[in-house]
Amino acid sequence: MTGPAAGMAPVFLGLGSNQGDRLGHLRSAVAALVAHPRVSVTACSGIWETEHVGPDVQDPYLNACVAVATDLAPLELLDVLKDLEARAGRQPEGHRRPRPIDLDILLFGDLVVAEGRLVIPHREWRERAFVLEPLAEIAAGATCPDSGETIAAICAKIRRKGGPWVRPFAGGGLVDEGFLPGQEPGREQGGRGCYPGATSSSKA
Ligand code: ADP
Ligand code: MG
Repeated sequence: MTGPAAGMAPVFLGLGSNQGDRLGHLRSAVAALVAHPRVSVTACSGIWETEHVGPDVQDPYLNACVAVATDLAPLELLDVLKDLEARAGRQPEGHRRPRPIDLDILLFGDLVVAEGRLVIPHREWRERAFVLEPLAEIAAGATCPDSGETIAAICAKIRRKGGPWVRPFAGGGLVDEGFLPGQEPGREQGGRGCYPGATSSSKA
């Protein structure tokens, strides 16, 4: 690992794409994070294909999570992510619209932030299987700073509740195999088949 020292509070990012080359957008975003001098990518989840959540009809997403170590402040990290979204062609008014890439700060160590443009833990993440399934692969034992529950426990609740489908994506990973030291997507946490339609897909 290069860049910021290991041992910093883990930061977990959520990635999503439902427009254009979805896999390519996810991989480009991770490559840009890996190349950033003040960010170290320490773990990558597998990729999940997920039903769009919302009142309108949109194409399915590819979703994933990464763990990073960074000495950036939360708002500085948000600016980095917003810049990556813009570089991928995302329109600024893209909230709840199809998007080439959506990059969210899910957890930033134990920080709880509620500012105008930054809320951590990310709002609604506890209700979203498309966030929790990949997050549980790389952070099952991490705890939610406001409730103290583990990610695994929150994910298990959502599995019991059911909801929009999510399924492991078999068409590729975030990075080439062996690229990150110790990268072992913990698919045993992944709950394959726990959701309606949760069969593996290979369509990019
Ligand atoms: P969403 O991710 O909910 O679909 P957007 O990506 O369109 O929505 O982001 C809308 C705004 O949410 C952003 O401009 C950003 O300032 C704000 N925001 C608040 N908290 C966060 C967070 N934890 N991570 C990323 N964006 C956030
Ligand atoms: Mg977002």
